[in-house]
Amino acid sequence: MKKIAILGSTGSIGTQTLEVVREQKDIQVTALAAGANTALLEAQIREFHPSLAAVWDEENAKELRLRVEDTGTRIVSGMEGLLEAATEPQSEMLVTAIVGMLGIRPTIAAIKSRKAIALANKETLVTAGHIIMPLAEAYRVPILPVDSEHSAIFQALQGEGGSRIAKIILTASGGPFRGKTEEELRHVRVEDALKHPNWAMGRKITVDSATLVNKGLEVIEAKWLFGVEAEQIQVTVHPQSVIHSAVEWEDGAVLAQLGTPDMRLPIQYALYYPKRRPLNGERLDLFALKSLTFEPPDQKTFRGLSLAFEALERGGNVPTVFNAANEKAVALFLDRKIGFLQIPEIIEDCMGRAGFVPEPDVGQILETEAEVYELIESRW
Ligand code: NDP
Repeated sequence: MKKIAILGSTGSIGTQTLEVVREQKDIQVTALAAGANTALLEAQIREFHPSLAAVWDEENAKELRLRVEDTGTRIVSGMEGLLEAATEPQSEMLVTAIVGMLGIRPTIAAIKSRKAIALANKETLVTAGHIIMPLAEAYRVPILPVDSEHSAIFQALQGEGGSRIAKIILTASGGPFRGKTEEELRHVRVEDALKHPNWAMGRKITVDSATLVNKGLEVIEAKWLFGVEAEQIQVTVHPQSVIHSAVEWEDGAVLAQLGTPDMRLPIQYALYYPKRRPLNGERLDLFALKSLTFEPPDQKTFRGLSLAFEALERGGNVPTVFNAANEKAVALFLDRKIGFLQIPEIIEDCMGRAGFVPEPDVGQILETEAEVYELIESRW
């Protein structure tokens, strides 16, 4: 039995991870962590019997403690609770499926406890990749990507020991607003942004897909995961989301992973790496597809992507500024306090105003986040 802990078990990636566990029947879940959805967490506790479960708020934890008294699962709360869940002694692997920079400290703690990391929480690598990757190497802990694009690249890299990557082709669906003009984007609503053409995901990442900020975060994530430079990453809009990404080798060979859009595949690949397992689900039918199309991203209209490249180039804490400003701006957009086009405007404004730290430690990353939040709260 493989033993795993899941942070963000009530979210889109978390619940799909549990679907894989349910289907495969040979994984034991030792710890779960959620934010506020205690009803679903209770159901998960009753089904998967973890020894530990964390919720963010102590008030919610108190109530849940009473409700699951009969189960033997210990309920913890706050950052301490997340850290306990991340380092639960029996687990061999941590699935980081929480959203935002909250994932940094638990991921570091899990690496130091020598847990393999199945990483969905891209914000951790975007802001702290320069800390996480060397730490994982020092502790000989694998970082297994869950993001479908990075999993595709990781799959394409297998068995190519020592060869040089010429280029990474990072595919993007283009989101629900592909082809729209700036004028048209001025009036889009929250409901429109939440309608992703191909993938069903959490709210924040769905908005990030609409602004192309998600692709920008993935560019930065790819740099850290695969040790490539920004110039080696080519974002390619591919509306069918069939080619999940590809690697071009120094001899010009391009290796890609294709499939239907189903997050359970990259999740399962990370859980069982290097083995593959059967997976029920829709299969790719090339005859039904007929054609696959590709186009360059419109970075002038969707400035989220060009701002991410700029953040990557400037380095230091600028990716943190980019990410924190986006998190706050997306929350404001979802609360209908700002328009869609103000998301990149706010990011750019913060990237111009926040103080620069060349090699931020975790404390400085979190200070940068707080500084950016203050900058935004003072204006919006
Ligand atoms: P969701 O919004 O669906 O889920 C987020 C999860 O984080 C929920 O379980 C939520 O708990 C939990 N959470 C929120 N705040 C806290 C907190 N303070 N303490 C503990 N847990 C908390 O997000 P997704 O599953 O879509 O995304 C998760 C991560 O994976 C993100 O970083 C995203 O970028 C990345 N990712 C997602 C993909 C997808 O297909 N969804 C694809 C690739 C990457 P609760 O609901 O109980 O409040």
